[in-house]
Amino acid sequence: MNNKKLLSCLLGAALSLPGFAAEKPKNIIIMIGDGMGFPYTTGYRHFVDSQETTTVETTVFDRLHVGSASTHPHHHDGVVTDSAASATALATGTKTYNGAIAVDIEKEPLTTVMEIAKAKGMNTGLAVTSTITHATPASFFVHNEYRKNEKEIAQSLTETPADVMFGNGRHFTQAQLDTLAAKGYQVISEYKQLASLKPGKVMATMPLTNAIDDEPMRLTKMTKQALKQLKGSKQGFVLLIEGSQIDWAGHANDIAWAMHEMADYGGAVEAAEAFVKANPDTLLIGTADHSTGGLTLARDGDYRWEPQSLLKIKQSPEAIAKIATTAEDPVAIINRSLPFKLNDEQLKLIKNTDLKEPKALTNAIKKVIDLHTGTGWTTSGHTGEDVPVYATGVGAHLFSGHLDNTDIADKIIKLLQ
Ligand SMILES: [Zn+2]
Repeated sequence: MNNKKLLSCLLGAALSLPGFAAEKPKNIIIMIGDGMGFPYTTGYRHFVDSQETTTVETTVFDRLHVGSASTHPHHHDGVVTDSAASATALATGTKTYNGAIAVDIEKEPLTTVMEIAKAKGMNTGLAVTSTITHATPASFFVHNEYRKNEKEIAQSLTETPADVMFGNGRHFTQAQLDTLAAKGYQVISEYKQLASLKPGKVMATMPLTNAIDDEPMRLTKMTKQALKQLKGSKQGFVLLIEGSQIDWAGHANDIAWAMHEMADYGGAVEAAEAFVKANPDTLLIGTADHSTGGLTLARDGDYRWEPQSLLKIKQSPEAIAKIATTAEDPVAIINRSLPFKLNDEQLKLIKNTDLKEPKALTNAIKKVIDLHTGTGWTTSGHTGEDVPVYATGVGAHLFSGHLDNTDIADKIIKLLQ
């Protein structure tokens, strides 16, 4: 036996050992909290903390936490990434410019984990709370030189669709939806239709709703349904789930909205964790693409962050302002809509605002909530610090310690090959 033959023989023996074979997950669930830096997962821990006990209970993010990841884009674009460059890094293992959808800095297409999965005969899926054509889902499935080309991205996703697509479909034309239906997709457009789905391909173009005003746990519902649709895949599946609007709440510097989005995303991670428990041949790997808003859990030199009232806020500041601007007594509406009594400083802040101007009043209500809870913000954009990584199931240990976001993709690709 020559050396080459001996090597392949030894390798074959090693691969047939149960421990080695068990390293390969059949299914992979990739979860991204858009904008969900550490302040958001820490904030969520206190937001949901039981006031009946003196301890701070751990959350699903604490339970599954394995490490952290750096998020910077290609060095041409500095330290702070956008969602497109970061999703491209997580989907392909390559750093690129901000705005790129699975293309490199020369605008050449990069192979994505979803394309590798499809080539292996696996099923693929996505469930997001943004448009289906938004930067994160787009970067996992198609290629475009600029994230804002959502109409082109919709066409690409019609030509090479995921098997299961849950999200807002506003950039798809009726003709494109008809094409998907002709390919055997069940096409639905309302949350209440989820229960009527049969196993197999789905195109669900849901309304764009937020977690505080309209559909509190819509991502959790979509995640459970997407897993149901894909569960029977013979060759396994790769599913991308994104809590898209954590980022939008961060851009808006809206802590009430942000924490309600975290509750929905946390529910989705718990649903995925339960799936891994029931299907131990599955890997769940989650992270964030970057942090947003420069959120701080304290402000103005006070050693205080008190999020308990946020649970009781049932309308977003924007929704409260919309009602208040048309009301006879806007201050009374605001007082009634917030679960705490406004102090003199907060009342003054509201009264000094143009009470007929929804945008100004929204900002004033957000400021009042920030002052009440002790929440700080430094930017309306993204920030460059590291983000959490969490994992469970087959191969979860590979993601422990500090990684770059491109390492996460490299490891997923290795597991797929
Ligand atoms: Zn963003």
